[in-house]
Amino acid sequence: MQKTYVTFSLEDQLKGWFRHPQSCSLIKYQSALLKETKPTTIRDVHDGLHTQAVRTRPVYLDEYPLPHIPFSDDRDVHITISTDGFQTFKWAHHGSFACWPIIGINHNLPPEIRVHIENIIPLGLMPGPNQPKDMDSFLMPLHNDAWRLANGIDAYDCETDSNFKLYAYILTACADMQAVKHLNGMKGPNALSPCHICKLQGVYHAERRSYYYPLDIPHGKPPPKHQPASYNPGDLPMRSDDDLSEILSKINLATTLGGKQQIAKEHSIIKQSIFTKFPCASWTKGYLHEFMHLVFENVVPMLIGLWKGDFREINHHSQGYAIPEDTWEVIRWEGVESVKTIPSSFCHALPNIHTHQTLFIAEAYAFWFLHLAPILLKNRFPDWVYYKHAMKLVKIINTCIKFKITWSEVDELEMEVKDWVVEFEKMYYQRDYKQLLVCTLPIHTLLHVVDDIRHHGLVCVHWTWVMERYCGMLGTVAASKGQSNPNTTLSTRMLHHAQLAQVRLRYDVDLPSNRKVIPHGDVCSGEYEIIGTD
Ligand SMILES: [Zn+2]
Repeated sequence: MQKTYVTFSLEDQLKGWFRHPQSCSLIKYQSALLKETKPTTIRDVHDGLHTQAVRTRPVYLDEYPLPHIPFSDDRDVHITISTDGFQTFKWAHHGSFACWPIIGINHNLPPEIRVHIENIIPLGLMPGPNQPKDMDSFLMPLHNDAWRLANGIDAYDCETDSNFKLYAYILTACADMQAVKHLNGMKGPNALSPCHICKLQGVYHAERRSYYYPLDIPHGKPPPKHQPASYNPGDLPMRSDDDLSEILSKINLATTLGGKQQIAKEHSIIKQSIFTKFPCASWTKGYLHEFMHLVFENVVPMLIGLWKGDFREINHHSQGYAIPEDTWEVIRWEGVESVKTIPSSFCHALPNIHTHQTLFIAEAYAFWFLHLAPILLKNRFPDWVYYKHAMKLVKIINTCIKFKITWSEVDELEMEVKDWVVEFEKMYYQRDYKQLLVCTLPIHTLLHVVDDIRHHGLVCVHWTWVMERYCGMLGTVAASKGQSNPNTTLSTRMLHHAQLAQVRLRYDVDLPSNRKVIPHGDVCSGEYEIIGTD
């Protein structure tokens, strides 16, 4: 099967936004936020420390500063990119097929519309069926676009009826851990030191042949080389951008292949990724820990697995967190019955959490844990402290996903998260080597979520529900007609999506704000419209 990488120009798509009076006005939404130098509340990505820092200094190209200071003009555009591998279908004899779309989120638009499908910026489709071996090669066109946009390109502002220099900056990348490892040049989950924020090293579990990441090493085990036996969650050994350069030069200077591999393994770094060469990009601040995957696809499912007593090869018998099986049947029944009285706008019908937890998706976990679990789990644990601990996580998540958060709330949240992780290890891990399997990377990563909020703004402006929706839109095409040549079909779908967005802007096509999008092939009635065809 011939594979072609299809990429879409970021420059041309951004220019189109300034050719439509309404979108031209909308795209300046962030300018009012940027005028406040010390906001007391974090309301959006623009209030984050990283954005605030970027707008105070010039961008350097080959050690020479560019004349334009980022975000000094109302029309400077702030972009986050996202990518994810999504499985479109399974072939009968060739396994599954997955491809990797790359999209951009335009943070200049108001948050309530920036994640609408028609406002997503398609940037490319890395062809399947396997994950990309070298993601940097696919990001090269975007890298070139980013540098041209940092230098300024000619554009037309229809609101002021004048030509101007358009600048845009890709400051962050947001994806799940498997995708981020392709973006940041690190070894990723299961490496010795997989965190790009801190230098914590994992403890090797010989039977599982994998690393786990507790704050305290198990009783009776020696600490990892050059690492302490205990980490203070409030004082983790942090990485910096200079560390990356130092490690890369050490790897380059090593005279033997074994020496290079040893340094790479110790720091879990493979190479300097192309994303760190984007204007304004930062190795330690450029990659966000994606909250939806982190919490609703990792931490919460793991906790439920522990409470059900079926999480990995751990003996949960007689533990204070293991809820008896017959109680789970009651919890399942109460959950299903309660959802029947809740409007479907809030939640779809839930699968059987007792017997079919694998059918739960992030949305179902989020609703079940935040809204049902506080009632369903009350008085169900053999030991009450596990319920209290679970409810602390509910409170933490509810604070994280607020639409506004004050700086003092952020400080308070940080203490709550640290306490929660320390308590988690005391209650579930107990420094017992046999329980080490509960100290997963997502549990460690929770310690960095608050820093993400500080530097990049609210969780809800960065999580990747939008990526999932975009993949869902592509998936409907692949499932219906794409199996003979799926790469071409999917990239054509993305091309049509980009073209229709530009047609809408160029010819002032009026779109109702509350429209519903229907998949290709369905009948279009008066209140619906199709956003793309094949
Ligand atoms: Zn870390």
